Amino acid sequence: MPSGTRDAVLKFYFGPMDCGKSTLALQLNYNHGRQGRRGLVLTKHDRSGGPKITSRIGLGLEAIEVVDSLDLVRLVTAHDRVDYLICDEACFYAVEQIEQLADLVDEHGVDVYAFGLASDFRSVMFPAAQRLFELADEVYRMQVEVLCWCGRPGLLNARVVDGAMARTGEQVVIGDTDAAHVRYQVLCRRHHRSGLLSEGRPSDEDEGSAA
Ligand SMILES: [Zn+2]
Repeated sequence: MPSGTRDAVLKFYFGPMDCGKSTLALQLNYNHGRQGRRGLVLTKHDRSGGPKITSRIGLGLEAIEVVDSLDLVRLVTAHDRVDYLICDEACFYAVEQIEQLADLVDEHGVDVYAFGLASDFRSVMFPAAQRLFELADEVYRMQVEVLCWCGRPGLLNARVVDGAMARTGEQVVIGDTDAAHVRYQVLCRRHHRSGLLSEGRPSDEDEGSAA
């Protein structure tokens, strides 16, 4: 570490869909860039389907798509100078890539700002998110006005398949979340556990869970 500088940091911002993660990622990138810092912007499975970060409020930025084989340390050291990384959708990265992010912080002095979901549609933590919880210097739960249909804070993502809440399936199913077949809905813990997707309409044959 060059003398007179602070330690680099690994920060993880997590929250359900629509809580403003990508918007904050883009804002952070803008703020750092304005101070003359150089960064790279990474994403995986962005909602746009392309290698870019898009936020639901209409902002967008070209980004590097993080495929499983991408070595993030090599990616950074191949660049002239990188002061920080913005890592959107980090919950979908390989666990090994989270280790690489920690190496970049500790060995290369790169600040890493990671954004993502904590848990999947079953409310089970994504492996990469778990590793971020374990390694990050700071972890922030984002709660930006995303509410369950009942008005309680939205905490968990539900996967809705043909109108019913799914309890089993692949951990990652990316698709057009506007499509009717598979969509995601943010629910409070109570309604994620009971499977109630709207007032008075159980999502499927109840499997004995208490509402
Ligand atoms: Zn609710």
